[in-house]
Amino acid sequence: MNIDVINLGPMDNCTYLVSEGTDALLIDPAWDMNFLEHTLAEKKLNLLAVLFTHGHFDHVKFAQELLEKHHLKAYIEKKDVVLCGIDPHMLAAYEGAQNLHIGPFEVEIIPTPGHTAGGVCIKIGNAVFTGDTLFPGACGRVDLPSSDPRQMRKSLLKLSQLPEDTQIFAGHSYGGKCSSTIGYERIKNPFMRNAIRDKDSL
Ligand SMILES: [Zn+2]
Repeated sequence: MNIDVINLGPMDNCTYLVSEGTDALLIDPAWDMNFLEHTLAEKKLNLLAVLFTHGHFDHVKFAQELLEKHHLKAYIEKKDVVLCGIDPHMLAAYEGAQNLHIGPFEVEIIPTPGHTAGGVCIKIGNAVFTGDTLFPGACGRVDLPSSDPRQMRKSLLKLSQLPEDTQIFAGHSYGGKCSSTIGYERIKNPFMRNAIRDKDSL
């Protein structure tokens, strides 16, 4: 499995192009569909699915164009459909934990509410795409509509229980860094550390 990190837009968003042979998935495609189309064509990849970690505009902006062109629906958690502003007919909304079989990809959807009510992390093999739930050394904002700080602590605790060599890929490259490992975050991320410390009272 190959993972391309594509930085797009004015907010340091990270779109991920995950490929296996000629099959590809896009996670949080936003901002520059021309660039994404060009990248798919250049790499001779066939786009099988689009998945969103959550419905905030900076993770979905202009993605409807891509969906229409490829005749695809995007996977998104039901509670974030209203946030994303995309025509609901273009969305494959689901609820809760899921295992999706998409071409050669085994995709595990891990619900991680807190930043938004329908926020999820997307695990494929040893990689987990954490959206705005977990960043290297930090976590997403919990002061937005549909945020919930207590749910965020529970979600961080859930992520801390993944194998320590799991690679994380976050939704923004704040400070130039978008990836890390669960093992590193368990030790260095103060928000994850607090969630682990307080686990009995969550
Ligand atoms: Zn967000």
